[in-house]
Amino acid sequence: MDKLINLYDLTFDELAQLVAELGQPAYRARQLWTWLYQDLAADFAGMTNLPRDFREKLAEVATLGLEQPVLEQRSSDGQTKKVLFRLPDGNFIETVLMRYEKRRTLCISSQAGCAMGCVFCATGQMGFMRNLSVGEIVGQVIYLARELAAEGQRVTNIVVMGMGEPLHNYRNTLAAVDILTDSRGFNLGARKITISTVGLVPAIRRYADEQRQTPLAISLHAATDEERDRLLPVNRRWPIAELIDAARYYVAKTGRRITFEWALIEGENDTIEQAQALGRLLQGLLCHVNLIPLNPTAGYGGQPSSRERVAAFQAELAKYGVTSTIRVRRGIDIQAGCGQLRDRAIQELTPRSQE
Ligand code: SAH
Ligand code: SF4
Repeated sequence: MDKLINLYDLTFDELAQLVAELGQPAYRARQLWTWLYQDLAADFAGMTNLPRDFREKLAEVATLGLEQPVLEQRSSDGQTKKVLFRLPDGNFIETVLMRYEKRRTLCISSQAGCAMGCVFCATGQMGFMRNLSVGEIVGQVIYLARELAAEGQRVTNIVVMGMGEPLHNYRNTLAAVDILTDSRGFNLGARKITISTVGLVPAIRRYADEQRQTPLAISLHAATDEERDRLLPVNRRWPIAELIDAARYYVAKTGRRITFEWALIEGENDTIEQAQALGRLLQGLLCHVNLIPLNPTAGYGGQPSSRERVAAFQAELAKYGVTSTIRVRRGIDIQAGCGQLRDRAIQELTPRSQE
């Protein structure tokens, strides 16, 4: 039997083509798209405005998502939840839902594992398995959107900051973004989806050339090549000067502000010298810095900076006119914080041979 088509893999045009191949009039594509992205239908049987024979045919050739949730964990305050999915080929990915007063933010994964090897990141420590398909990226959102819908709520923001490097899986990640922002369907505002990259320079330039409306964040974490080489191996390929050039190019092309992420590690990148180097680097650029005390991971000995050091770093940066925000950490008790996605559960569920 041919492989089933995951409908969440398809763009609207691809879905329209499938509908035509199944002998249905064009308007059925629109109806089906509405079932997928507005009604968040979990099965074909309930798609009551579609003819029964079409629904039966769809059930034979297609599915509505392929990932299986195998574990859900809630933080002690109940506001953050992490879902571990098992993919059909046995790989695992994680998705995090963060509830704020007014926002429901999802942190989604773009790859199983990651090839970039940032030393402080649990995903980097596990290595690269594979890119996620469009449907596996979209599917994470749909799964949690269904759950929120049952409570009368919806996804308001997405950050592509889960497992993986989104610009290393450029095509599928951006195809998923295009699907989720389609006004006929899920209709999430492009400004509500942030893409975070470790700094793949050619991909940043491509992103700028495509005039992407989704905000971009760059994980900088160090302001000198010596320091960044140590923390982010990718820096040896595209050093800071090239990266900042690409960031300037993005700002010039799009007129949009760019965000830099900085995980503060005690005694490592939280020094006044680093703050000054960062200030000099970003001075005059339309940007903002997010300061995040490091989240602990099993494979890295660094510690989060103390409050005092975070405050001193921020104050030093401000002298250069560079604005920053200290980010509140969420879900640390369930290993759902930035860079913690790998999870003890994965280690327990993965055959030891892969360790
Ligand atoms: N690969 C992309 C997106 C996923 S990582 C990227 O690197 O940007 C999301 C964010 O978490 C990045 O800013 C990353 O640097 C940060 N991060 C990784 N490990 C962390 C840790 N242990 N503590 C705090 N932030 C971390
Ligand atoms: Fe990959 Fe981002 Fe983790 Fe670096 S921080 S290893 S790029 S997921």
